[in-house]
Amino acid sequence: YEIRFEQATKTQELNELVTAINHMAEALSKQENLRKRLTTDMAHELRTPLTAVGSHLEAMIEGLWEATPERLKSCHDEVKRLGTLVADLERLAKIEDENLLLDKTKMDLLEVVGIVMENMKAEAEKKKLSLRVSGVVSVVYADKARMHQVVTNLLSNAIKYTPEGGSVTVEVLDQSDCGVVKVTDTGIGIPEQELPLVFERFYRTDKSRNRKLGGAGIGLTIVKSIIAAHAGTVSAESDASGGSSFTIRIPKGDV
Ligand code: ADP
Repeated sequence: YEIRFEQATKTQELNELVTAINHMAEALSKQENLRKRLTTDMAHELRTPLTAVGSHLEAMIEGLWEATPERLKSCHDEVKRLGTLVADLERLAKIEDENLLLDKTKMDLLEVVGIVMENMKAEAEKKKLSLRVSGVVSVVYADKARMHQVVTNLLSNAIKYTPEGGSVTVEVLDQSDCGVVKVTDTGIGIPEQELPLVFERFYRTDKSRNRKLGGAGIGLTIVKSIIAAHAGTVSAESDASGGSSFTIRIPKGDV
């Protein structure tokens, strides 16, 4: 009986080992696919503006096109877009590299929200959006500059994806274990099936592509990385009738 029992235990252990190895292989293959996709997406994002500039310049050099100020400006615009894209990529790489190097201090989320709102006021006014903040002081132990970046990205998306005359509201809540910032807009919304995808690198919803809005789809990936480095959470909600809201939660930690 004892021998049989021992054998049974060994078989069970072996089975567990096999399962663990299979899980590991699966995880590695997922990582590898993600890396491949990242490279292809990046190449695609860079190729479009490069092709446009390249062919315009070629036509001008060969004398097929006159180098009018408008054509030169269009080339310059594409080059600027490339510059922004590269800067975004650098910022993302830096954040992912330095995940553990946070400069944490005791800071008030409401204060950061106030500063970012002030910076974005002009942009919101241009689109005749009503921009409101409500809430209370919420002190958390976090990297202030990075929180500034998070709120900036969320607020600039809310403004970007909300048509003229709409409204953008930021709420700061102070819960017993975490500080919460919620950015709500009355904009174009995000289809339910795309909600989990918007945090992926380069992901842009069909709605925003169709309307030629937005950038390269990196802003929310940066938000997700920063929040993860603080052991917090970020979530997105959207209504079929339009409007989206993004909520971040930062644990209070040692405050
Ligand atoms: P982008 O630079 O394209 O805005 P992000 O990573 O910040 O990149 O966002 C990814 C995508 O998520 C956007 O392209 C857009 O499709 C969608 N999105 C983000 N925020 C909002 C919002 N407030 N309302 C509607 N769609 C949004």
